[in-house]
Amino acid sequence: MFKAFLIKYAEIGLKGKNRYLFENALRDRIARVLKSLGKYTVYKEQGRIFVKCPDGYDYDETVDALQRVFGISSICPVVIIEDSDWDSLTQGVGDYVEAMYPDKDFTFKVVAKRADKTYPLTSPEICSEMGAYLLDRFSNLRVDVHKPSVRISVEVREQAYVYSIVIPGPGGMPVGSCGKAMLLLSGGIDSPVAGYMISKRGVSLSAVYFHAPPYTSERAKQKVVDLAKGLAKYTGRIKLYVVNFTDIQLEIYEKCPHDELTIIMRRYMMRIAERLAIEEECLGLVTGESIGQVASQTMQSLASTNEVCSMPVYRPLIAFDKKDIVEISKKIDTYETSIQPFEDCCTIFVAKHPVTKPRLKAIRISERKLEESIDELVETAIEAVEVIDVW
Ligand code: ATP
Ligand code: MG
Repeated sequence: MFKAFLIKYAEIGLKGKNRYLFENALRDRIARVLKSLGKYTVYKEQGRIFVKCPDGYDYDETVDALQRVFGISSICPVVIIEDSDWDSLTQGVGDYVEAMYPDKDFTFKVVAKRADKTYPLTSPEICSEMGAYLLDRFSNLRVDVHKPSVRISVEVREQAYVYSIVIPGPGGMPVGSCGKAMLLLSGGIDSPVAGYMISKRGVSLSAVYFHAPPYTSERAKQKVVDLAKGLAKYTGRIKLYVVNFTDIQLEIYEKCPHDELTIIMRRYMMRIAERLAIEEECLGLVTGESIGQVASQTMQSLASTNEVCSMPVYRPLIAFDKKDIVEISKKIDTYETSIQPFEDCCTIFVAKHPVTKPRLKAIRISERKLEESIDELVETAIEAVEVIDVW
């Protein structure tokens, strides 16, 4: 029975003069997500976005797609009443209740909004008159203005809109309204969740994955591509850079103390990620790190990996417990892919007893042992980077 959706957004309504930019970003994002499902029309109208659906569209599929669009606070399937004169309006709202609620035995409240200020009735008048009409037409309905089981919303614009179902959206801000960041995406549970969270704040993503063939397999790389695909359902297109990290890792393995391998490797990942981020005009790096989760994520280790880049590094999971991260990864559907047992490049070269409190001075001294070779290896890795377009 629904041929349209009314889309509500919260935060982006607060942006003053920039508001239209955010609204346009949201409208465009919705249009893009729905494009692959059919010929939908998406348009703005006074603080609302409307989606008109093509004939024969799939309701569940549409709601599912909209629930992945950041910036949407709620999704309301609406019935449009073409003529908003009072008789047509009451008739239309009554027919809506007739069709929606077979037993018609519940408490309700009418909530009216009048965007068309020339309408002969005020909003409170619409509420009370419409309530009276419905009570008259359906004898088992009862009004409860405090805790109604059904809120019937009526919005009078050029046309009128009626709805009573409110489906929660994901919240956040429309992707692309807040710049771009480079996500260090491994095959683990954490980094996809970190990407999701940053993107939810309106940031679009590029991503970089470091692999070490033949120590890491094609399947490990495919797993990362799959994770990027899962993320892209929320974030839109992701340009995924795949860096061959083998020679750099071998060089570090050969020249540096083994208990510092992970830290030094992570420092080179950050350096390369920053280089790619600058090329991509990203404004920050994003990692899935969380304090104390593993040896390379103690406060000392984080300080040490942080020191090598000047771009801001965003760590949205920094204070999250693992179980909470797992919960989000299940919710966004990356968990099953993340737990596939394909090693990522760090696990091959890890020492049995990595330093947990690396001293910056010692790490810098160890890195000096790479002086002669490392710059060229880094350049080669960047030149040979593979780019995979994921969406
Ligand atoms: P994740 O679950 O995200 O893999 P983790 O718990 O395994 O994290 P680490 O391996 O210490 O933790 O990695 C910390 C962060 O460094 C990751 O969240 C990710 O952002 C980045 N990272 C680690 N390995 C790689 C890699 N091979 N390619 C790209 N980024 C990586
Ligand atoms: Mg990992």
